[in-house]
This record gives sequence, structure tokens and C-alpha cells, in this order.
Amino acid sequence: MDRRVYGVETEFGLTHRPETGRGLPPDELARYLFRPVVDFGRSSNIFIPNGSRLYLDVGSHPEYATAECDDLIDLIASDRAGERVMHDLAMAAQERIHQDGFTGAVYVLKNNVDSAGNSYGSHENYLIPRTTHFRRLSGILLPFLVTRQIIAGAGRVVQEDDTYEAHFAFSQRADHMWEGISSATTRSRPIINTRDEPHADAASHRRLHVIVGDSNMSTTTSLLRYGSTDLVLRMIEAGVPIEDFELENPIAAIRAISHDISGQARVRTRTGEQVTAINIQREILRRVTRFVSERGAHHSHVDQILELWDRTLQAVETGEHQLIDQEIDWAIKKRLVEEVSHQRRLDLNHPRLQQIDMAYHDVHPDRGLYHLLVRRGRAATIVSGAQVTHAMTTPPPTRAALRGEFLSTARAYGAECTVDWVHHKLTDRPLEAIMVKDPFAAKDQRVEALLDKLGDRSSELQERSLEERSRQGATLALTDKYTRAPGTQVPEPPLI
Ligand code: ATP
Ligand code: MG
Ligand code: MG
Repeated sequence: MDRRVYGVETEFGLTHRPETGRGLPPDELARYLFRPVVDFGRSSNIFIPNGSRLYLDVGSHPEYATAECDDLIDLIASDRAGERVMHDLAMAAQERIHQDGFTGAVYVLKNNVDSAGNSYGSHENYLIPRTTHFRRLSGILLPFLVTRQIIAGAGRVVQEDDTYEAHFAFSQRADHMWEGISSATTRSRPIINTRDEPHADAASHRRLHVIVGDSNMSTTTSLLRYGSTDLVLRMIEAGVPIEDFELENPIAAIRAISHDISGQARVRTRTGEQVTAINIQREILRRVTRFVSERGAHHSHVDQILELWDRTLQAVETGEHQLIDQEIDWAIKKRLVEEVSHQRRLDLNHPRLQQIDMAYHDVHPDRGLYHLLVRRGRAATIVSGAQVTHAMTTPPPTRAALRGEFLSTARAYGAECTVDWVHHKLTDRPLEAIMVKDPFAAKDQRVEALLDKLGDRSSELQERSLEERSRQGATLALTDKYTRAPGTQVPEPPLI
């Protein structure tokens, strides 16, 4: 596919640290966090005017799912916008918590393991043609994903069960995956989830759902993660033959690879060969590079992706991690943790270093260590603050733009509406629900016509730009200033 739709879902860790004593329990804290969301949409599961979905599932890990993007930079900007949305909600929650007589700070962490060892995910979605042979796809994609952590992992200090030895590992998520491929997400945590919900025309497309990735703070790492996966998918879709690296036990392999930062851990293929993550990644990169040189680059970041991919493998091969310690999350964090460990003479499993690991993932723009490193010139970024701010209120030019316009216009007219990835419905016109199956469609006559029925679209309200209306809608969503419609039932956070 030349154009692909991408989306990424991020589950966040949430913590309250009071000045003394224990913090609020996670479910209560989550209710505080989501109060403006519930006020805005009368549900803890809403779409916001930038086209993204914000929700609180069972459990207490709030999730932000980016709008459908057809461009990697838009995807990364939308994902970062989600961090800012969560941050704004956290600051508002902190204020209310103080008003209710509690002390301390609320932390939103974009990582994958909390201090109690619970894991939460970062799910990638890729639109693929239905014609792609799924067995062949998984045969190539699984070994790629099992080894992708060496180029895109977020890194963490792990302690071996038997020796208690603490050392740095590539991935946060690797120790929490239980199956290669399955249709369940939470129970068995597969690397590829096969639940078939395409949010598109099911006759022509599938939505590939990859749930193995670490959440990334670094935008350059994100570019490599999504960009390399897209390139591998293109090669699979084009039917390019690729060496058979199918692994005998992908789950044992993903853990072994994560735990050996030298990249030399050997894992067995189904054919009995012993290979390293570097062997697999090098071969895939070689094929992808050839594929690109034969067919040409399909977007302007392909060269940058290939260069960073190659350099990251070289850094792992040679142990010269400084080659990538501004661009790849695990290496940026490893340098930081090792520096503090060295300066303060702390063992790698010292709690202070665990705090630094957590603080790296803090989405707070001033407090978060990743953001601090960017400001100090110690971490590179490819998405500017202005792009992220823009993405908080403006949908990308896909079906998300339709959704954004639908939500903003309905809200501007005070009309109740419901949407999901595919449907658009005005509550008082339930029979006119409009289904947009094409995720690339940024325009749709039927949606326009339905919105026209809301009133004279030449009014002053309608002349405002989409962007302006979206911004208004988003602001309403993210602050407490919006007063909910009278008579609506909103669960209040409990007071203790
Ligand atoms: P849940 O996470 O609740 O189990 P889900 O897997 O459908 O459900 P959502 O959280 O709703 O996931 O997020 C769906 C993601 O898929 C979003 O990031 C969205 O942008 C993306 N997406 C929507 N339609 C498509 C599509 N046709 N192809 C690829 N990605 C899509
Ligand atoms: Mg989701
Ligand atoms: Mg999902």
C-alpha cells in the first residue's frame, strides 16, 4: 500500500503522591482525572475534536487512541498530543484533589510497567489489504516484532530471578507478552492480535493490531518503530521473498533478547538454526533497503528511517551506544541511568534509579526527564511543540477530519451526537446515522448534508474555520469550564 492508515493507542500509568502517607487508590484517581471528560461527553469513552478517542476502561489506565493518520509525522504528533491532553487532565485533577483537602502531585506516565509490576500497552494499528496472506504475514512479521525491541524499545533495569543481578534490558513490554498470535488482548497478551475489527470496508481491508511495542517518549524512536514496520509490511504486501526466521518459541525469544543488551542472545528458529536479534534485523534491513532502492521511497522520511535503523544496529553490534543515545529511547535512558548510578555510586537496582526510570516517562513538560533532556539538547526530536499543540485540536486529513468537523459543528449548534471510528449520528435523527468505511475519506457529502440540516450553514458560526471550531471544542473538552447540560447524570468522584 502506498498510503496506509495508522493509529496508536496508549495506556498511561497514573499515580498520586501526597506529601505524606498513601496516595489515592488508582480507580479514584482515574475518576478525578476523567471528571472533565465525563462532563464533556457524559461518558468516560469519548471522541474529541482532533478525531482521537479518550477513554477509561475497566482498570485504571486511561487510554488515548490517536485519530487515523496517513502520515507518520501526523501520527507521532497526534500521539504526543495525547500526552498533553492527559497532562492537562492531570493538572485539573490535581487542583480538584487539593480543593478536596488532599495534598501532593498527580503523575501521568507513558511507560508500560508500574512499580507493582503491572503492565499496560501501546497498541499499533496498520491498515492492510485483505488480500495479504495472513499466515505469510505473521511468519515474517513475528520475528521482526520479536527483535524490533533492539531498535525501538524503551529500556529498563531488570533483575534476574535466579541471580538477582540487575542490568539494563531493551524492553519494558517483553517480559509481559504471553503468546505470538491470538484474538485476546488482556488475557493472553499476544504480539499480534487477530481480532478482526477493520473499522474499514471488511471486504477489502484488515486492521493489523500489534500489541507488543513499548510506549516511546522519543519521537525519533517512534519514527523508526512505525516507519520500519510500515516498510516491512510493504515488502510483505509486494510478495518479496524473505528468509524464513520463524521462531521456535517467540515468547522465550522476546524475553531472552530483551535481557541481553549486547544483542548476542541466541534464539532458535523452527528450522533449528541459532540466530541473534541482530542477524534477523540485519537481514530484514538488507531486504528493505533493496526493496526501497528498486521501488523508490514512498514518503520523505524513508532515508532517515533506513539510516537510523542501520546506525542503531551498528550501535548494538559494537556496543557503541553513544551512536544513538539522543535518538533511541533505551539508549537515551540507559545513558541517564548509568550516569546517575556512576555519580552517586548507586547499584543499578537502587530505588532512586527506578524513580529516574519512571521520571523519564513523566508526560509533564517541565518535570518529565525525557522533556528535560530535549531542552538540554541531549535528546533529538522531529516533532515541534507547535506541531503537537496543533494536533491537540486539529484532526489529520483523513476520516478523522470528518469526525472532528462533525463533533465541532454539532457542539457549536448544541446538537447531541455520537460517533465512533466509522459512524456519525445526531441523537435526534437516529435513522440518519452515516457510516464512513473509507478511513482516508476526509470529505463526505452525506455528512455535509446531515450537518447542513442543523441550520443555515452560512451563518457566522459556520464561517469560522474548521480549525477554530475544533479548537473551541477541544478546549471545552479539556477544561472544567464547560458546564454540562442540565439534567444529565454524571457520576461524581467519591469524597473520602
Ligand atoms: P479497544 O482498544 O477498545 O479494544 P480497538 O482495538 O478498536 O478497541 P481503539 O482504542 O478504539 O481500539 O483504537 C483504534 C485505533 O485504530 C485508533 O488509533 C484508530 O486511529 C485506528 N484505526 C481506526 N480505523 C483504522 C483502520 N481502518 N486502519 C488502521 N487503523 C485504524
Ligand atoms: Mg484501545
Ligand atoms: Mg486496541
